[in-house]
Amino acid sequence: MEVDLEKNLFIEKKIEKNMIKKFLGGVGFGIEYLMREKAHEVEPFSEKNPLVLMTGLLTGTTYPCSAFYSVSSKSPLTSIIGEGVSGGYFGPELRPIFNGIIFKNKSGEPVYLIIEDEHYELKDASEIWGMDTKNTIKMVQSKLGKEYKVACIGPSGENKIPLACIMNDHGRAVGRSGMGAIMGSKKLKAIAVKSTKKISYENESKFKEITRDLMKKLKNSNPALTLRQIGTNAIEYFEMFADVPHQNWSEMGKWKGVNDITGAVVREKMLVRLKPCYLCPFSCGREVEIKEDPYKIENAAGPEYETVAAFGSMCLNSNIESIAYINDYCNKMGVDTISTGSLVAFAIDCYERGILSEEDIGFSLSWGDHESIVKLTKLICERKGIGEILSLGTRKAAEIIGKNAEELTVEIKGLDVPMHEPRANFPLGLQYATANRGACHLRGFGTDIYGGFSNLGKAIGIREEVPIKFRTIDDPKFARDIAISQNLSEVNNSLGICRQTISSGSLAIENIFDLLIESIYCLTGISFTLDEILQIGERIFNLKRKFNVLCGISKKDDRIPIKLKTPLINGRARGKVLSIDKMLQEYYKFRGWDENGKPTSNKLKELSIDEY
Ligand code: SF4
Repeated sequence: MEVDLEKNLFIEKKIEKNMIKKFLGGVGFGIEYLMREKAHEVEPFSEKNPLVLMTGLLTGTTYPCSAFYSVSSKSPLTSIIGEGVSGGYFGPELRPIFNGIIFKNKSGEPVYLIIEDEHYELKDASEIWGMDTKNTIKMVQSKLGKEYKVACIGPSGENKIPLACIMNDHGRAVGRSGMGAIMGSKKLKAIAVKSTKKISYENESKFKEITRDLMKKLKNSNPALTLRQIGTNAIEYFEMFADVPHQNWSEMGKWKGVNDITGAVVREKMLVRLKPCYLCPFSCGREVEIKEDPYKIENAAGPEYETVAAFGSMCLNSNIESIAYINDYCNKMGVDTISTGSLVAFAIDCYERGILSEEDIGFSLSWGDHESIVKLTKLICERKGIGEILSLGTRKAAEIIGKNAEELTVEIKGLDVPMHEPRANFPLGLQYATANRGACHLRGFGTDIYGGFSNLGKAIGIREEVPIKFRTIDDPKFARDIAISQNLSEVNNSLGICRQTISSGSLAIENIFDLLIESIYCLTGISFTLDEILQIGERIFNLKRKFNVLCGISKKDDRIPIKLKTPLINGRARGKVLSIDKMLQEYYKFRGWDENGKPTSNKLKELSIDEY
């Protein structure tokens, strides 16, 4: 459905089967719409930049972890393709009614959208404008009923902070690249959905038989046992493989503080219960509580690995209570914890080197000082004091600060590098350098394949797990593996399922992709081969690259930040210099791009996207 926020106009549109055959759903539909509307030509905060919210093809079915919806738009942080996906229950509630909602133009006054089956309307949001995300969801549900599932922005989105997310359910986020700021620029505070409709299947009984069996096997798998036990925060395990960044990506390579901020410590000190997404057999989500000040929190989402590393090891902060508190605070304000934690680490680094002073900040900063880390986080989220500059993101903040501060930033295409060390995993460096939304561990399976968390290699023809001594080599063969895994990631995010079902699932179920393809057939009546499915992923990836090329992206942007070119001095990957040059050359060749990283017209034709 298209919603014109300016004219209060709703247009329902039918999705043709051919669109599903070409793009599946989710982020596939997202980029198709952005290209058709020529969103690359407009400024991110222009009313002409649409906000495209899409469910995936499998979202809301009985497929395990079919919990995800996606949001795509031109990013206010990076000025290229922006997008994110989020689990929880919001997507499955929307899916039986609409495949997605496209928001066009801007409302003059704050509004929120209510959808109840065939009934939909925009309502005045002045009462909830200014509220944090937890209170917004509470307030909307108290007015409409607890059955409504709500996605919303917090004060940071309202203030158009480019780090702003869209939050839904219990701490679930469309996290990266500032989709919450686009929603804020449109004065759209929330979307509340209630459905009594059912998804229609071509062969429902067979679909349910397959997915019941999948669910049972996944639930009893080893990855599920681990995720239920410690969530995603296996930081001490990642540390063994030199995978954890420390002290704003310094060369230290090892830090004993990780033992105080593990998933087991979270469990022991603050876990209340597990909080899985819709139909999830893994349950990485958790609810935590801290009873004492100064970090008292309740009904809070537990910090997952990325957040723990961003505000923990990156800041040398071993106080887990402060990290859980910051996580809850960022969720309430509605900001991306990876970028916000990276900004705090960057600011401490600047301070320690005399680039920022106590006068600039308003107080002193030092590694591991959790009180000042909390204070600085609040300034960023509220856009106050030095937070006014930092909230623009590390790239823009460094430009304004000057004094070579950009040498301390670790971002690619404007998006801060997530919390897995490419110096211990060179193929992952290639994935970061070429990911369409900027450095990303979730747009590709480099961490999973080379970290030993999946058997994707065997399942889709990528090389088997590679020993660590080979992971720190810029072997051109990795280029093919990374490209295929990026294509697979596009499929994953277009289907609306959690990456765990594919990644961890491949460890537990040998024929996971046969079952996935059969499920799609039972749902839609469309039969795909694995090659065809992967080609859809390739199509989506290339269309995003084309969007970015039209925004000015080329080989110069597929780069590794200066800090990551300094070798680690400790840990398993010590002394290795990260280089992606050879892999990048091979990557362009494998992708069918020219030497400047532009998809060739032949490649676009082969993928049937030359019309865009
Ligand atoms: S594994 Fe975690 S993120 Fe994925 S569906 Fe389950 S609870 Fe949600």
